[in-house]
Amino acid sequence: MSATQSPSALKVLFLTPEVTPVAKTGGLGDVAGGLPPALAALGLDVRVVMPLYGDIDRAAHGLEDIGLSFAVPVGGLNHQCRVWRGDLNGCPLYLLGNDTLFQRDGLYGDVYGDFGDNLIRFVFLCRGAFELARALDWPASVVHAHDWQAALAMAYLAAAPFDLGPLAKAKGVLTLHNLAFQGIYPRSEFQATGLPPYMDSIDTAEFWGNISLLKAGLMTAAAITTVSPSYAREIQEPELGMGMDGVLRHRAAHLHGILNGVDYGLWSPEADRHLPAAYSADNLGGKAACRNELLKTFGLEPPDQGGMVLGFIGRLAHQKGVDLIAEAAQEMAAQGHRLALLGTGDAGLESRLSHLAETLPGKLGLKLTFSEKLAHLLQAGSDVMLMPSRFEPCGLNQMYALRYGTPPLVRATGGLKDTVEPCDPERNTGDGFVFSIHSSQAMLAELERAAGVFAQPRAWRELQARAMARDFSWTASAQRYASLFKEICKDG
Ligand code: ADP
Repeated sequence: MSATQSPSALKVLFLTPEVTPVAKTGGLGDVAGGLPPALAALGLDVRVVMPLYGDIDRAAHGLEDIGLSFAVPVGGLNHQCRVWRGDLNGCPLYLLGNDTLFQRDGLYGDVYGDFGDNLIRFVFLCRGAFELARALDWPASVVHAHDWQAALAMAYLAAAPFDLGPLAKAKGVLTLHNLAFQGIYPRSEFQATGLPPYMDSIDTAEFWGNISLLKAGLMTAAAITTVSPSYAREIQEPELGMGMDGVLRHRAAHLHGILNGVDYGLWSPEADRHLPAAYSADNLGGKAACRNELLKTFGLEPPDQGGMVLGFIGRLAHQKGVDLIAEAAQEMAAQGHRLALLGTGDAGLESRLSHLAETLPGKLGLKLTFSEKLAHLLQAGSDVMLMPSRFEPCGLNQMYALRYGTPPLVRATGGLKDTVEPCDPERNTGDGFVFSIHSSQAMLAELERAAGVFAQPRAWRELQARAMARDFSWTASAQRYASLFKEICKDG
């Protein structure tokens, strides 16, 4: 318990498949790293539970085996769980270990795709969280679950298919970080979920002839949240509802959009250990050194040539609109811009970008890797951050980019629409560039506007100052989660 918490503090078991900095594949990890400490700062007692993946560096993250173990029943078998513990900025972090299920490289899959036993692995996580609460005798009032991997915990709370122990009275809140991932398995595997047979139906887990762990969670959670107000609306429509829009309309009264926050302890150019030079809104000098370092690292032509350095960081997935960047790359290079791209993912997109890097030497630099250090360097060293997403539940990179004085150029969707205000240099307003139609032409047209402002150093500096002044720190969002938790607990 931190100094601000009283014994009567609202207890929240935060159940997540990833947590920055211990194990991360994307934005969910950053949220799970930032939100619990922000809730704790408001006086809540938050304990975070995640799997002990095999590739976690236990020593580097100060994790300790606490000598606690218990059996976790999954699909008629008992899986042994060994508990490790760490600290997440004052919040206890519990890691549930089982070598057979987690002692391998990768969180959810490898080069061959998703792991074949993911259903068992994440039933283990959800069921294991209840066994952990029992072993610790810790009566949380709220189980806050994240994405499909943790969604079954909601259905366990609703149906009590086993003795829930100290969590018997807990309420479930499910946060949806990306509806594209739904935890879908053949119906024949329903029994492994541990849910009662009546939940193998359209009212809970059944989804177009399969089962969906996410749907089971959405149908049973006391409250559902997603990570921006716009995305909360968009997923109730067929276009972005990914087949789940009917479910979400059905639960609309319990669905809330709460924007993600930023952990400025990790993402601030004033104190970023990954950068060759620090800088701030008052003194942008160090940004040039970061830009030079970026150009060198990505094998791009030296700085003295006018055009902009365009950055991209992210999963190479259809969602992120990387294909638009690939389509427009020749034209961008012809206009004198240089591209620095960082990402891993879809093999087709990886090879398309590799081919472009070969065709555009010095103009398009590509790193097909996951590197925290390079991500920070890109935020600081780029002039503009590209995010042409087809959909974007919240998006963190644009919020980081704003703080680094790197105006984002985004498509108006989801959280991108909610966080980036279109620049109007005439009226001295806005902090980024926004286009609506998802096409490379629309993106290029917006890029031309950005280049127009970039060509006026004073207007650009003012734009950077407005961007860097935006504040997305976690406090306001954490307050909204805390109010929601209190509200649902009031209902008895
Ligand atoms: P999503 O969760 O959909 O992947 P977000 O924008 O919400 O997208 O969050 C992405 C997070 O993952 C950011 O912190 C970003 O810096 C990080 N990230 C994505 N790809 C990489 C990569 N290849 N190397 C380093 N960090 C990455």
